[in-house]
Amino acid sequence: MSTVDEVSQAAGRARTLADLDSAICRCLACPRLVDWCRQTARERRAAYRDQEYWGGPVPGFGDEHPSILIIGLAPAAHGANRTGRMFTGDRSGDWLFGALHRVGLAALPTSVDRSDGQQLRGVRITAAVHCAPPGNTPTPQEFAACAHWLQQEWSLVASTTRVVLALGGLAWTASLKMLRAAGGQVPKTRFGHGAQAAVRLGDRTVTLVGSYHPSQQNTFTGRLTEHMLDTVLARARELSGQQPL
Ligand code: SF4
Repeated sequence: MSTVDEVSQAAGRARTLADLDSAICRCLACPRLVDWCRQTARERRAAYRDQEYWGGPVPGFGDEHPSILIIGLAPAAHGANRTGRMFTGDRSGDWLFGALHRVGLAALPTSVDRSDGQQLRGVRITAAVHCAPPGNTPTPQEFAACAHWLQQEWSLVASTTRVVLALGGLAWTASLKMLRAAGGQVPKTRFGHGAQAAVRLGDRTVTLVGSYHPSQQNTFTGRLTEHMLDTVLARARELSGQQPL
């Protein structure tokens, strides 16, 4: 896939999450991001000099029948773009997986690489944009291109998902667009840590929950504490009806 139209068509053809993940991994629709992922993988950070980087689009990770869908912004250049698993291999991921484990939604307290045995229960983690962007800042066009993958991911998990947890304001906006594209009636609710919106989708309701992103910008400054992240994840678990591991 090298055009947005091709992304849209390929996303629509994906009938399973495995199909979708495989197609995402072959996507080339955003040249700036494709180049950045590959350049980062070639140059590498000194600490990871001996590692083979993933260096491309990173698919979602987790339960195939989730009750909670977590949506982040995009892979980090030396985190998920290195390991090939969402929120894996960087400080943001350490925070997220640590909290998921504490509230009983992840088997292990850390997510190190794709072979570490980590498992999520009732949770799938994905992102608004599947390729690492320079400066962690995708363009509006890149958000729009990758939204086709997110919308299809939603259609494949919608039957079981009761909570969408958006990490950060940009993921909140992408989640709103995803739910509206699926026909959801979304009340006006501003993003904030712990914000909630009940989204009517046909004869059922999905709850959109907001959390500050566990980026170092937020965790170093104390804007987001472990207690705050644990509390919002526990709330998401409660709303989803998911039992802890
Ligand atoms: S950001 Fe999304 S649409 Fe763009 S190249 Fe990566 S996977 Fe494809």
